[in-house]
Amino acid sequence: MSKEVGGQVAKVILDVPGLGALDYRVPADMMVAAGDRVLVSLQRRKVIGIVSALQSIPDTQKRLSSVLAVLTETTPLREEWLALTRFAAQYYLRSWGEAAVPALPSFFRKVPGARRNAALEKIRTLTKHTPKEAVPRPVLNDEQARAVQAVIDAKGYSPFLLFGVTGSGKTEVYLNIIENVLSRDPDAQVLLMVPEINLTPQLEARVRERFPEEVVVSLHSEFSDTERARAWLAVHEGRSRILVGTRLSVFASFKKLALIIVDEEHDLSFKAGDGLRFSARDLSVWRAFKNKCSVVLGSATPSLETWLKAKKGDYAFLELKERAVAHASLPEIELVNLGTSHSSAAFRKETYEQMRATLEEKRQILVFINRRGYAPVLSCPSCGWVSSCPRCSTFTVFHKREKTLVCHHCGYSRQVPECCPSCGNVDILPKGTGTERIEEELSKLFPQHRILRIDRDSVRRKNDAQKAFESVHKGEVDILVGTQMIAKGHDFQNVGLVVILNADSQIVSPDARAKEHLFSTLMQVSGRAGRHGERGKVLIQTRYPTEPVFSALIDQNYPLFADTLLAQREANYCVPYVYQALLTAQAKTVTEALYFLKYAADIAWSMDTHDVRVFDPVPMTLVRLMDVERGQLLVEADSRVELNRFLVDWLARLQSPSSISWTIEIDPMDI
Ligand code: ADP
Ligand code: ZN
Ligand code: ZN
Repeated sequence: MSKEVGGQVAKVILDVPGLGALDYRVPADMMVAAGDRVLVSLQRRKVIGIVSALQSIPDTQKRLSSVLAVLTETTPLREEWLALTRFAAQYYLRSWGEAAVPALPSFFRKVPGARRNAALEKIRTLTKHTPKEAVPRPVLNDEQARAVQAVIDAKGYSPFLLFGVTGSGKTEVYLNIIENVLSRDPDAQVLLMVPEINLTPQLEARVRERFPEEVVVSLHSEFSDTERARAWLAVHEGRSRILVGTRLSVFASFKKLALIIVDEEHDLSFKAGDGLRFSARDLSVWRAFKNKCSVVLGSATPSLETWLKAKKGDYAFLELKERAVAHASLPEIELVNLGTSHSSAAFRKETYEQMRATLEEKRQILVFINRRGYAPVLSCPSCGWVSSCPRCSTFTVFHKREKTLVCHHCGYSRQVPECCPSCGNVDILPKGTGTERIEEELSKLFPQHRILRIDRDSVRRKNDAQKAFESVHKGEVDILVGTQMIAKGHDFQNVGLVVILNADSQIVSPDARAKEHLFSTLMQVSGRAGRHGERGKVLIQTRYPTEPVFSALIDQNYPLFADTLLAQREANYCVPYVYQALLTAQAKTVTEALYFLKYAADIAWSMDTHDVRVFDPVPMTLVRLMDVERGQLLVEADSRVELNRFLVDWLARLQSPSSISWTIEIDPMDI
């Protein structure tokens, strides 16, 4: 990009809603290029913006304020990056600046302070990881070799679905593809996206081990400003050729992006919960298209969106049917029928017996329950009082060790009361079960064994999780109990039995996608058993043993399950056969929120919307969150283009009182 001198206006995008690029005069002695970060003033504040384009100033141009400074510490953001953020802004209906500026590490969007240079120095130094001794790499099996070859042979934009059962060696496939891509072109860079990096240090280590010559960096939201800026810059400048990161890394700035891999592509964490609410998986496909390169979406339980695209042939389909390690087979899955029993014991007798047998064989047990805390609620049997959050329409969870009642939605926390706050009864009781209670029960059932709990409460500090998992890997733990955190990605060596509690909460959930998610979670958790050598077993305690999701799981037949769900979705005009957007309104009261949404719906209905369906406004399931009440309005269309066109037109007409705030979300996940 050539630097232009003076006589020009810079079009600058800023992180402000509804604001297009603003014009600023480029002083005659200043060099500016498109993609430069610049300091400008906006309503008397100094802010950082990005130059999206340059134009020469027509003579009639009114007086403009000037660009105050160009931040020359980095080279300009490239055309491809600008195009990506511009596309994201259009797609997710935000201003370009709202999509682009927050996509930079905060260091690069902060107005530089006095100690800028010292900080930059720190950011420019990368710690070298001393490579461990080379590990023998496995010889690919036929399925793996075929998958690798297919991707290597692909030319131009080539999306793939790599459908491989847990433990089938998908990671090994990724590594081989990466190796090939990097060896073909000295400038080529690779993006490997994972759902949760702090849970997968194993993967990062594996990548580093495999590519000792490469600078491997990672990006994660829990990194400090400096760490994030350092990794970002190394990729931007092409010093690092491998980026391993969570969803935010889809917005990294690459010099030459030549391959994208999305591991566990179905994972919900690829969808951002606030801000732009983007899907990193979807954007990665767009980015591969733009860069004319391959994108590999890997999963044992692909999302229905991806599954459908593969069926239609939009994505090439690659399959790994077998577990990769010799003699490792998929675990045997059994249901333990809870019937109508109201026993308060968490483990049924059959479950207990199998646990004992597993421990006798010196194999580890993993107990999975998707609820942390001791019990989801405290209640008073004499007056019916239940512990609830004063700010949200939900219960507060009882944490026994800390003696607190905590709202898992807003973080509100209080000491457990001595007696019922409503009637004074001293016998208030925990109802239901969470990880902490299971841990307690396990220590009573198996007092001789080492039990470890892993959830967000037990591993709060950085590296806690890593240490905890290391002790499992080293065999210092006999029974591991935990939430989602223990389900994903871990390549446990010696887990013989997986026990799944409380899957039923998902079966009775009103969420349309609950079963799809349940299946993938169960498959993931089950996949932790018997990965090396002897066969593993999975026990699922349930009151719904005839539920189809379980039979599909027992048969390990994801294709059948996915096809069945897709057929239902198609018949009922549901996603992924239709495209959705969700307008959410927040106000002091839900009545007010719904009133606004009704007004918005009236406007929509008065427009020419024959290709777009606008539903009735409804309160959100969790109506009140942090003293704000919420309602939502669903909009649906048969084509993305129609939906986008309608939304642009519609949202421009909405006028809201200051007591209302609203947001639009494209492709919402939980409605
Ligand atoms: P996935 O990502 O599909 O769950 P991984 O890539 O983690 O599976 O592989 C599971 C295990 O199998 C790992 O321990 C890995 O080292 C091993 N493995 C992968 N490919 C092979 C192979 N071709 N031969 C032997 N072992 C393999
Ligand atoms: Zn009471
Ligand atoms: Zn709350």
